[in-house]
Amino acid sequence: MKVYKFGGASVKNAEGVRNLRKIIDDEQNLFIIVSAMGKTTNALERVFGAVQKSDRAAAMAEITALREYHAAIIDDLWHGPRRLDAVEELFAELERVAAETVYRAEDAELWYDTIVAFGELISTTIISAYLNYAGVANRWIDMRRCFLTEQRHKDAGVDIEASAPRLKAALEGGGETIFVGQGFIGGAPDGTTTTLGREGSDYSAAVVANILEAESMSVWKDVDGVLNADPKIFPDAVQIAELNYLDTIELAYSGAQIIHPKTIKPLQNKNIPLYVRPFGDKRKPGTVIRAMSAPVDVPILILKKDQVLLTIRSRDFSFVLEEKFATIFSLLERFRIKANLIHNSAVNLSLCVDNSWHIDEAVAALREAGFDVMKAERMELLTIRGYTDDLWRRYARGPQVFIRQATQSTVRVVRKRD
Ligand code: ASP
Ligand code: MG
Repeated sequence: MKVYKFGGASVKNAEGVRNLRKIIDDEQNLFIIVSAMGKTTNALERVFGAVQKSDRAAAMAEITALREYHAAIIDDLWHGPRRLDAVEELFAELERVAAETVYRAEDAELWYDTIVAFGELISTTIISAYLNYAGVANRWIDMRRCFLTEQRHKDAGVDIEASAPRLKAALEGGGETIFVGQGFIGGAPDGTTTTLGREGSDYSAAVVANILEAESMSVWKDVDGVLNADPKIFPDAVQIAELNYLDTIELAYSGAQIIHPKTIKPLQNKNIPLYVRPFGDKRKPGTVIRAMSAPVDVPILILKKDQVLLTIRSRDFSFVLEEKFATIFSLLERFRIKANLIHNSAVNLSLCVDNSWHIDEAVAALREAGFDVMKAERMELLTIRGYTDDLWRRYARGPQVFIRQATQSTVRVVRKRD
């Protein structure tokens, strides 16, 4: 079995879906994981936002736009007006959720997951139907029933051991050797839908690969492979042919948008190679990520945008802030805030974190717990692995640098956005 993952950008229009069909070609024994089409997840986050504010009209307007967007793709794929009952039902259900939800703040994450999961349910329903129509017999798999996750919404981990028999059972019987499942979603022990964190489809594919002991996993992307930097920010970016698991985790954690950070562990545990390949050209080699690989010989630059720097100090000025780390981190964990960089001095603990709607709540709770908290917005976190003198001069100095942490090979800088 091989696992192929197609991200939202790859299936953002009918041409993308036809290209997916071409990439599959006449392959057998394939598990295909698909994300929501194009920017659907962002639109569904706006639906959730509208539900949160009890703005029914705004929620319905977003859903109507999504309906039209998907309907146009379907019409294009079937060469004329076409309604797919299963897609109609999903939209009707989504509308019902948006119209009938009585929003309560303590259920925010539950409703977030319930709403955003529709993106992948809709995309896989369309793609599975299209592949059958185009002569590729396949089975649609409901990942909410195959992946048992933690009882935790918005960023759930999959219980791989408990999920294995469910996933295997879902593939049994019938003659299909091609399966189409949703990335990003699973089911909690209480039966509600969970999501695995934004961009979590890579992780879904890796868990499937782990359970099915796949020979390889491929992520089809709109780039030629993994680059050493984002070419939109650092113009002289070059492609990296090979990476090992460890470097990949480091890169993903620092914000390189190669692959979701949770993807590597399930692959590493079963020694499954991961290919990052260009969606536009199947013949190009892309990048391979596996246990052993040649060392990377170019510096790697990763910029994580939209960061907030929190500086936390014990109000009684105690010099043993370490003793309070547990309190601080468990509080942040409660608000789903992860530290991307940690820096401490005698009395201060500075944390660089992703901006999110929870930060103010967390700051309030920290103050309540006896800490002074300073919050600096509009920050970014730059990581340079294998830095040179020139890169140091260009990026690791200057008045906009708030924090700099360096080892012999890597420098990480929290700096004010210009
Ligand atoms: N559709 C989800 C997102 O946009 C999951 C994914 O793309 O991997 O975050
Ligand atoms: Mg996506």
